[in-house]
Amino acid sequence: MALDADSTKNRLACSFGQKYPRRRHLRPQKLAPRAIPRHISEMNVNTLIIGAGAAGMMCAAHAGPGTLVVDHAKAAGEKIRISGGGRCNFTNLHASPANFISQNPHFCKSALKRYSQWDFMALVDQHNIPWHEKTLGQLFCDTSAKDIIAMLRAEMDKVGAQLWLQSDVGKIDHDGSSFQVQLTRDGRETDIQARNLVVACGGKSIPKMGATGLGYQIAARFDLPVVAPRAGLVPLTFGDDRFKPLAGTATPARVSAGTASFDEAILFTHRGLSGPAVLQASSYWQEGDSITLNLTPQGSLLSFLQDQRRSQGRKALTTVLGNVLPGRLVDFLRTDLALTGNIADQSDAQLGTLCESLQNWTLTPGGSEGYRTAEVTLGGVDTDALSSKTMGAKSVDGLYFIGECVDVTGWLGGYNFQWAWSSGWAAGRDIAQRTR
Ligand SMILES: Cc1cc2nc3c(=O)[nH]c(=O)nc-3n(C[C@H](O)[C@H](O)[C@H](O)COP(=O)(O)OP(=O)(O)OC[C@H]3O[C@@H](n4cnc5c(N)ncnc54)[C@H](O)[C@@H]3O)c2cc1C
Repeated sequence: MALDADSTKNRLACSFGQKYPRRRHLRPQKLAPRAIPRHISEMNVNTLIIGAGAAGMMCAAHAGPGTLVVDHAKAAGEKIRISGGGRCNFTNLHASPANFISQNPHFCKSALKRYSQWDFMALVDQHNIPWHEKTLGQLFCDTSAKDIIAMLRAEMDKVGAQLWLQSDVGKIDHDGSSFQVQLTRDGRETDIQARNLVVACGGKSIPKMGATGLGYQIAARFDLPVVAPRAGLVPLTFGDDRFKPLAGTATPARVSAGTASFDEAILFTHRGLSGPAVLQASSYWQEGDSITLNLTPQGSLLSFLQDQRRSQGRKALTTVLGNVLPGRLVDFLRTDLALTGNIADQSDAQLGTLCESLQNWTLTPGGSEGYRTAEVTLGGVDTDALSSKTMGAKSVDGLYFIGECVDVTGWLGGYNFQWAWSSGWAAGRDIAQRTR
């Protein structure tokens, strides 16, 4: 079914231009308030997608004819644009269900298998977008994240999908066979009648970039359960400025939270800890829990220190530690860990205690930086309520949830975009097949 823009019509007549008698010499009289005319037009589409982000645009490119994508932002794909430092880490060579967090770890399997990282890479190649692997299988654009946005827009254009920006979503109804959605654009209201409604409006992360959590409200509107959302891939804070002297210092570490451990860089900040290893661990961290830092995850620290004691006995312990840790960090730990004397003065027991302190540093964050800086939102629409094959709601025909608003959250490293592509594709494909 094609977009039915021609059927657009005003439902209320305008009443501008009416003249009032001039009452120059009379005291001003209050005029009875006039009803402000509402300019409402109507439009029929096969599929209305709310959210022109990664998942929404991918879905639009596959949902077949008669697709309208709406977004309240000024531009489509804003998170894509700023992602990966402007180069978009668009997928990961090693993406597998093990890299995703959900109450149901099996839910993501079908979509990830049916539209994998290899499929997305093929699309990127088809559009001649140059890319490279940075580290740990993370694929980035060589030039700009805007290449990915342009690619998705081109794919949408190819199938005639329309995009309305700066459009606010109002009331949403469902009469059993189609959805009625009130939209306001340029001060004009349009009632959209849609056979399918795809909710692709992301999570709550970075409200400044337009995140609203509307997806959870729509789920609630249709009585679908939502797993409590919380900030993920987010710096952790300590409620004091204990790490202020170290702010800006980075070092490789293994960070463990709950059942997960990540070996990557950590970064000390004025308010706490950040860096890839901490961001990864934050998604497994719950308020009140402790995290553990291993500051020397590579090789045996004890053997190294014993070797140094044999060969460099007259060196200060802090100098020796400076070979494996940043000098500022050694200075910071000097008092707490009593790092005094030469390495030759240290007994095996003392070196053992030191290793334990550096490799099992337990800290209890007071909180996180929250949605203001979180890269993702954990939780979301409960996967029990959705089909893992189509992303369709089990209880409402034609209603779909895709991308970050679903309770599937990827690790740092291109996994979240892969989920957006895979889930967007799954919903789009189902819609196209049902429409034929
Ligand atoms: C700074 C940053 C960097 C990131 N870098 C990466 C990376 O390199 N690799 C990676 O895999 N992931 C990255 N992510 C995560 C990734 O951006 C998201 O997981 C992904 O964009 C989710 O796609 P989505 O389509 O579900 O939601 P979004 O991309 O967030 O799109 C949702 C869309 O819905 C619109 N919307 C929201 N509310 C409303 C409303 N009420 N009415 C109308 N429209 C609405 C928004 O304007 C937006 O356009 C990053 C995130 C951030 C914040």
